[in-house]
Amino acid sequence: MNQTSNALPVTKIRVGVSACLLGAKVRFDGGHKRNRYVDEVLRDYFEFVPFCPEVAVGLGTPRQPIRLVGTKDAPRVVGTRDPQLDVTDDLHNYGRTVAQQHTDLCGMIVKQGSPSCGLERVKVYSDQGMPYASSRGAFTSALMQSQPLLPVEEEGRLQDPVLRENFIARVFTYARWRELERQGLSKAGLIDFHARHKLIILAHSPAGYRELGRLVARVGSEPLAPLGQQYIERLMQLLAERAPRKRHANVMQHLLGYLRRHLDAGDRAELLDTIEAYRNGEYPLVVPLSLLRHHFRRNPHAWVSQQVYLQPHPRELMLHNAV
Ligand code: SF4
Repeated sequence: MNQTSNALPVTKIRVGVSACLLGAKVRFDGGHKRNRYVDEVLRDYFEFVPFCPEVAVGLGTPRQPIRLVGTKDAPRVVGTRDPQLDVTDDLHNYGRTVAQQHTDLCGMIVKQGSPSCGLERVKVYSDQGMPYASSRGAFTSALMQSQPLLPVEEEGRLQDPVLRENFIARVFTYARWRELERQGLSKAGLIDFHARHKLIILAHSPAGYRELGRLVARVGSEPLAPLGQQYIERLMQLLAERAPRKRHANVMQHLLGYLRRHLDAGDRAELLDTIEAYRNGEYPLVVPLSLLRHHFRRNPHAWVSQQVYLQPHPRELMLHNAV
């Protein structure tokens, strides 16, 4: 993945996807569940790698439906009509195989509700045939255990603007990290990566910001590879937390500090006003961020210009317009 100076990739990011979401007729009934946002909008930025775990383990299409049965923590995946059909181990093995063979994936979009692909709230049935709990699909569960840093989201949850923005920002961040690893992790590379992500980390967690700052300060006095691993594990955890309006507003006020000498009283008041309106829920994030970008274009600042925070994903995706 090559990168432009503002840290956005110029080549598509490889992202796994449940094949039925791209329109492949692989569902148990021979149909598909094409998702237009995934297939039309995200396709411009992601190179999708489709997977259908149920076809991959030999169930064929069409096939009898399967479902989760048993305990919430370790459900079995069995046939709805024929409970003797048990594909739990096959689906787990396939999830692990995909994780081992596709280490270049930077994200995964899965079909909600599926006993194989679902991320959460997949129905678990009792032995008497009643849904009584929920769990995760068997394939996705094994994949996530084998690749715990991989951002994973369901197509249904992508309709929520906050979850959508969060997921896509994590995919782009993980892709930048993978590119850094591909080039060979160096002390300077890790320090620079952290420097560029400081404000986005701060928006998610001030405590995490301090924690990662302390971790990066150990570069040079500890072995680099385990330090880098600790860094990316913690970073991906922090970014998975929601960044509330209050923290975004604080970060933008912090940015305003870099402009103080350049703005007249009117511009400063307008910017402050816009940030406060965002904090109070009157504007989406795109409004104060656009104004900040405008002022930084006219008054460039070296450190600010490298901040991923100002453009964590392509502007054309308009992900800041509804959060
Ligand atoms: S939800 Fe998963 S297993 Fe089911 S059809 Fe789609 S890709 Fe295949």
